[in-house]
Amino acid sequence: MGLAIGVDVGGTKIAGGVVDEAGKIVARTRRETPSTDPAAIVDNIVAVVRDLRQDNDVEGVGVGSAGFVDAARATVLFAPNLAWRDVPVRDRVAAATGLRVVVENDANAAAWGEFRYGAAEDVDDMICVTVGTGIGGGLVLDGSIYRGAHGVGAELGHMRVVPDGHLCGCGNRGCLEQYASGSALVREARALASSRSVFAARLLELSDGDPDAITGPMVTGAARDGDEPSRELLADLGRWLGEGLASFEGRLRPRGPSSPRGCSRCPTATPMPSPGRWSRAPPATATSRPGSCSRISAAGSAKGSRRSRRCSTRRCSSSAEVSPRRATCCSRRRPQPSAAI
Ligand SMILES: [Zn+2]
Repeated sequence: MGLAIGVDVGGTKIAGGVVDEAGKIVARTRRETPSTDPAAIVDNIVAVVRDLRQDNDVEGVGVGSAGFVDAARATVLFAPNLAWRDVPVRDRVAAATGLRVVVENDANAAAWGEFRYGAAEDVDDMICVTVGTGIGGGLVLDGSIYRGAHGVGAELGHMRVVPDGHLCGCGNRGCLEQYASGSALVREARALASSRSVFAARLLELSDGDPDAITGPMVTGAARDGDEPSRELLADLGRWLGEGLASFEGRLRPRGPSSPRGCSRCPTATPMPSPGRWSRAPPATATSRPGSCSRISAAGSAKGSRRSRRCSTRRCSSSAEVSPRRATCCSRRRPQPSAAI
């Protein structure tokens, strides 16, 4: 296998890259997601592939899509943040490009990327949580992606955290992604601004007085500039994210990371919750609950480079930065997986 194209279809953007056998991204491009037009989304995926093929001899395409993907990895059954309903994405992109195409849930694809080349390359089990327009989840268990009985397992963002809470795009109420995603951040910021509270002065200034014009980057930008209400909005999002991660970690007990990414509506340097907001795991004892390892991945960082990271294994006393390729205090080498997605 030589070069392949990976396409990430999110709620607001379609990002594409050419990737070599070592997982290095050698070319990139992106387009907007026309999220309310099912055919136009496919057209933009095809356009991204065509753009990237102009200077690269590629052999296949992997499409990572938000939403529920069938077990055959061909059809997007339902996408809460896109207009896709039973859309045969694999066949349509293959017909338009003449290339072999695989469709995968975007969080599963992110999990597999971290497992093969990133933060979880030295473990057998991991949870990957992607934070963007919604909340995605991917599980790698004993070296394999977990898809559940119908291909739509590990939708961690749709775990209910508030009975009768906010209505979610999946049709249920109170899902985690209604409290810990980019969409939640924007909804809360607009609600604050609509109240014409003095605390929303900076956000209203940035949006020319229109609460509905407030975007995620406006909130993160204001937070970086020291606007305390914007910081509180992000902190609240971080608290919910921490609650969710603690629940996942406490029940699944992976050895690998819960791995938040930058919000798709925000710059890559999105402020992350403080460590204290991530540490609400259930009480544990060293004898009854062996520690797991949580790491923040470098997904979205420039030039595809991997960062060194700090091991935070509960029973690990190391505070030193560890190599991107080797978590010296909690390493457990595994055989190289035989097949990619
Ligand atoms: Zn939901």
